[in-house]
Amino acid sequence: MSDYSGSSCGLGSESDYVDESADILGGGEVVGDDVHEEEDVVGACAEEDIPDNHLRSNACEDEEDEYYLRSPISSSDEREPKIEFNEHVDMEKLLLAVGMIFSSHKVFRAALKEYAIQHGSDYMYVKNEPSRVTAECKSKCGWRIHASHMQQGEGFQIKTFNSIHKCPRSYNNHHVSSTWLSSKYLEKIRDDPKWNVHAIRKSIKRDFKVDLPKSKIYRAKRKALECIEGGYVEQYARIWDYCDLVMVKNPGSCLKLKVERPTLDVLPTFQRLYISLHAMRSGFLAGCRPFIGLDGCHLKGPWGGQILSAVGKDANDHMFPIAYAIVEAELKESWTWFLTTLLNDIGQMETHGWTFISDRQKGLVETFEDILPNADHRFCVRHMYSNFKAEFKGKILKDTMWTAAYTSTLIEFQNSKG
Ligand SMILES: [Zn+2]
Repeated sequence: MSDYSGSSCGLGSESDYVDESADILGGGEVVGDDVHEEEDVVGACAEEDIPDNHLRSNACEDEEDEYYLRSPISSSDEREPKIEFNEHVDMEKLLLAVGMIFSSHKVFRAALKEYAIQHGSDYMYVKNEPSRVTAECKSKCGWRIHASHMQQGEGFQIKTFNSIHKCPRSYNNHHVSSTWLSSKYLEKIRDDPKWNVHAIRKSIKRDFKVDLPKSKIYRAKRKALECIEGGYVEQYARIWDYCDLVMVKNPGSCLKLKVERPTLDVLPTFQRLYISLHAMRSGFLAGCRPFIGLDGCHLKGPWGGQILSAVGKDANDHMFPIAYAIVEAELKESWTWFLTTLLNDIGQMETHGWTFISDRQKGLVETFEDILPNADHRFCVRHMYSNFKAEFKGKILKDTMWTAAYTSTLIEFQNSKG
């Protein structure tokens, strides 16, 4: 206690701080009016002894999380600034005051950032060194804090603090970074990975009173998802394990992994992966007509790539997945690899007489000419029409095109035109 230094912002002597800290808080001299108001709200809620099921509708909505997360506050003492700051506990509803001790300057800076965001103010460093940190309000309204290494013992202590902001609340806080946001919303995103950026933005506005660009929120969500799901790098590195486990747990499946490894002294790099689970392959062979739809689409993610798929049609005319592959791009080589693997898996053209349907994918037409020149290969009319309508618009032409697609002889088509 004897380490407390004097204060330049009306805090009084060291004995004042220790003995009359409740007065300091209550008067708002140290922590500002907004915190003083919070203090009243907490006190009022605690006294009313509100039953749990009424908490969400009472006037103390701002404090409801506190009721759910912690036991009810029994006295206002629990809201006083802690003498020794515990970064694992005290970051929530943060209060700062002269005399507070932090384990290092890094913890102090983290606390300062949290404090500024919670109180809707922005600051800049005047001094930012391992031995001393001084920050003042970005609007230069007089708010200022200074902390430095203690002379005796370990720790970093707030020496002076003028806590009153004369500037208005800032809704544009540059301390709210995507990394900080991702840590704040990690659990919510874990519960709902599809939580969209628009909804997150609203939540941030409500929780922290800051308005952020969508790009920053998108980055924050991506960081949170990477943290939850593990990085892409880690996931690609575990593909061997994944394939191994699928083969153990789902015997009869076909997985084929292709890697690039130019020389033995470099680690293999993922190139392609073909997957057909046992039920997909056996279900298709047992119950679907010999008709295979082929398609490909882009993969989102830092390394891109494409997913190729082979889909059948079951007895109810519903889609039935047969196999899919992750490849580097839609190229003739990747389509050739996928189709060759697929036919080795489900049986050759000559035995089953497969009919294929696809869009005019890049590389696929050439692949058919190369490896399946005699296969029945048709194009999806809907895809062809989307190209057709760019030049030939109107319902009459659309209907004519579909009629042409449905008829199988020239005479049939001419008759259908009436
Ligand atoms: Zn200010």
